[in-house]
Amino acid sequence: MLRAIWLLILLGLGVWAALFLRQMGGIVEITVGNTFIGVPVWLGLLALVVGFVVLHGILSAWKSLRGWPARMRARREARHRRDGDAAVTRALVALAAGTPDQARLEIRRARNLLGDTPHTLLLTAEAERMAGRNDAANQAFRLLSQREDGKFLGLRGLLRDAMQREDWPAAQRLAREAEAAQPGAAWVREERAALALRTRDWKEALALSPSEQLTGHRRAALALAAAMQDPETASALEKQALSADPGFAPAALAVARRQAAEGSPRRAKSTLQAAWKVAPHPDLAEAYLADESDALARVKGAEALTHENRTHPESRLVLGRTALAAGLTGRARAELEALVSSGSADRRAYLAMVDMDAVELGDSAAGRAAEAKWLRAAAAAPAEPRWQCLSCGTTHAKWEPVCEECGTPGRIEWTGGAAAKGGSVVTT
Ligand SMILES: [Zn+2]
Repeated sequence: MLRAIWLLILLGLGVWAALFLRQMGGIVEITVGNTFIGVPVWLGLLALVVGFVVLHGILSAWKSLRGWPARMRARREARHRRDGDAAVTRALVALAAGTPDQARLEIRRARNLLGDTPHTLLLTAEAERMAGRNDAANQAFRLLSQREDGKFLGLRGLLRDAMQREDWPAAQRLAREAEAAQPGAAWVREERAALALRTRDWKEALALSPSEQLTGHRRAALALAAAMQDPETASALEKQALSADPGFAPAALAVARRQAAEGSPRRAKSTLQAAWKVAPHPDLAEAYLADESDALARVKGAEALTHENRTHPESRLVLGRTALAAGLTGRARAELEALVSSGSADRRAYLAMVDMDAVELGDSAAGRAAEAKWLRAAAAAPAEPRWQCLSCGTTHAKWEPVCEECGTPGRIEWTGGAAAKGGSVVTT
């Protein structure tokens, strides 16, 4: 509206100026050679204005004509981008809905429209992987890894695939490349830790695992496994294992064995005692009493070992057994009967009762009756605790860093037995 008013005012002024000039009169003379043209001033000015307007119009039209292909191109690109973005969205929806074929179709459309961008390549790889076409997925990841802006994403996809294929050398190489592409990325660190576990490089796994995730028994198991691999730093790693889980018997045994070998049998014994206090384990008692050959000295030894955890089923069992071996049947009976009546006895306690009655009652009718009774009880009692892989259930004669049966690392633990109910047995 305001523009129209201005235009009207301008037009009015123009007409007024033309009329004014016409009233004024006067002539513009143009001489070319012998030709003489004379026009009134107002007509001359009008011709000038019209000439300017026409020239301006021609120039504008030329400029617009020249920019036309670029404008068309930009419009086409904008349309492609819009359609491509829509295809990407549809591909994401298809991926989320678990329909890989639809996702592949949409992503192919998006790639045609948008070209190879980190987004389209990543989505291609994910869709192909979901469709079970790992080769095509890896090709997309490789293309991605060759780009500066998608290098990490590509390497990450290739690494994941290599780990799935259990191609450990390739996985290690890719993990190193990914680390170089994105130094300190938490994901790479975790993958390298997982890789170290799979390749049984315990020391590397221990160094790479985030300290907040690797605590207690897990740290202890990994540190002891590393100690078994590396004799140079074994001493420090064994101590680290024991301090991470003071009740981890294999770590206590390793530390004690080293202390004894270094000429400190007393320190070795106190290490075993400390571990017994936290989590009694038959191997600790065996190591503690190993150098006592005299039966009575073994009773004394068992008392010294167990005095801070006197009523634990393992403590009662070792006291009862050593007393029985030394012929102290009254003492043995007191311990074993207390154990049986506590309800936390496993098979070993009943078998010890069989031995005891055989010593006390001999080959009599009462002895045979007692033996039958305890054997029945033993059959019904929980089995003794043992090293067992929590992943596949295989039992192992001793603790190992990895279960050879199923290949799972760090899952062999001291399990079962009635003692487990007491809660003092090592658990994760
Ligand atoms: Zn296993």
